[in-house]
Amino acid sequence: MSTAPTPLVECALPDSLMAELRALLGDRLSTAAAVREQHGRDESYHEPMPPDAVAFVQSTEEVVALVKACAAHKVPVIPFGTGTSLEGHVTAVRGGVCIDVSGMNKVLEVRTDDMDVSVQPGVTRKQLNEYLRDTGLFFPIDPGADASIGGMAATRASGTNAVRYGTMRENVLSLTVVTPEGRVVRTGRRARKSSAGYDLTRLFVGSEGTLGVVVEVTLRLHGIPEKIASAVCPFPDVRAAVDTVIMIIQTGIPIARVELLNAAQIDAVNRYSKLNNKVAPTLFFEFHGTPGHVAEQVDMVQDIAGEFGGSDFQWAETQEDRDRLWNARHTAYYAALAMRPGHKGVSSDVCVPISRLAECITETEEDLKSSPSFTTIVGHVGDGNFHVLVLIDPNDPASLEEARAINERVVARALAMDGTCTGEHGVGTGKIAYLEEEHGEALDLMRRIKRALDPDDIMNPGKIVRL
Ligand SMILES: Cc1cc2nc3c(=O)[nH]c(=O)nc-3n(C[C@H](O)[C@H](O)[C@H](O)COP(=O)(O)OP(=O)(O)OC[C@H]3O[C@@H](n4cnc5c(N)ncnc54)[C@H](O)[C@@H]3O)c2cc1C
Repeated sequence: MSTAPTPLVECALPDSLMAELRALLGDRLSTAAAVREQHGRDESYHEPMPPDAVAFVQSTEEVVALVKACAAHKVPVIPFGTGTSLEGHVTAVRGGVCIDVSGMNKVLEVRTDDMDVSVQPGVTRKQLNEYLRDTGLFFPIDPGADASIGGMAATRASGTNAVRYGTMRENVLSLTVVTPEGRVVRTGRRARKSSAGYDLTRLFVGSEGTLGVVVEVTLRLHGIPEKIASAVCPFPDVRAAVDTVIMIIQTGIPIARVELLNAAQIDAVNRYSKLNNKVAPTLFFEFHGTPGHVAEQVDMVQDIAGEFGGSDFQWAETQEDRDRLWNARHTAYYAALAMRPGHKGVSSDVCVPISRLAECITETEEDLKSSPSFTTIVGHVGDGNFHVLVLIDPNDPASLEEARAINERVVARALAMDGTCTGEHGVGTGKIAYLEEEHGEALDLMRRIKRALDPDDIMNPGKIVRL
């Protein structure tokens, strides 16, 4: 395998299509090698595949015109937010036009009384929360990276807050999408519940740009809690940490965040963020609520942790201390990469029912002991979701093979426990091989949906399902 840039071939789009797109976008259509390269890769080890051209769109009307023009030529269209996905999602496997929506980055309307907001797809989650700063409301979904809201909807993203606030599935109220034939469709209203027909919003959330281009997203917002407290606590071993989490969830404590970092990952974080956490499996906690409610949650969690040997809680109460704590968690991926400069990361992303989590993680830890590669485990453990990160040497094909073999075993373990091969990163090209086993007959239904909506297979082809 090679993660070196793929040699660029000349733009292979028909001249007539190029002329049409140039008339539409002027110099916002780019065929520059560097721009194509940047839009054919994500943040992972997957081999980059550049599109033929990149279109920097600024309005729904431009997306419609572009999609119609490409559809007439049966040319692929690949939506692009910020390119932080991890499974080869944006690679142009059949060439085509990448639609970069980062210029569609307006917050359209905040409705504080209804606690919802409508945004264009290129708005990033940090931009949105900055905009909401004075409203007393916030948008909780936090995949670490400063991803676009359109990309997050398209990957059904979640992250550290999902245990309390849900994933994009629970927080997208409705979408406006441009379909493969260039129609503009709104998938639902702003009502908090509806029984009016098929749930198209949920169909498009997680569709990874394979069914249409998201041009507007309406999201639920949440009140900023009166009190927030964060802490880290080391445990004697991974099982003790995970058993603590299982007990917290089963007791019904409404914890806002609970994240696991194994000892290798803590070591990497300490070096990268210049911290001195004890090198041991560690839980990162956050509690939200009124002061009394938070105090009650903290007492209960400390009692439970104590039963499993976790007692040395370090608290972060000020915004600055909390930011430092969570920054260490959010840079965990880059901290691990820094342990082997020049290496790339292969990340698994399984999620299992909470009662099977301890078994799944401890078996995985045992499995990793024989690996010659540098590996870490991090997890959104309150959801039953964890990642094994294996660092590979891009010049050593054997190390990629080893990482793939580990990933396959982790996925097999999760599926055997009625879990899923991807809890939040999505399928892209990287997880396609596992969908047959995970979904069986349902995968055929997914193919039929794709064929019905996109018969010419122009929308981000080669992702989720291959026709
Ligand atoms: C360090 C790091 C940590 C991460 N942690 C998490 C995590 O905790 N949880 C998590 O869920 N993810 C995580 N991710 C993955 C990533 O951030 C998410 O998948 C994110 O949702 C991708 O958003 P994006 O804007 O970068 O999308 P892109 O990478 O640009 O695109 C992703 C997919 O969405 C499609 N897409 C993008 N925009 C649109 C649109 N407007 N309409 C239709 N389709 C569109 C693309 O075609 C592609 O298939 C992490 C990534 C990194 C690098």
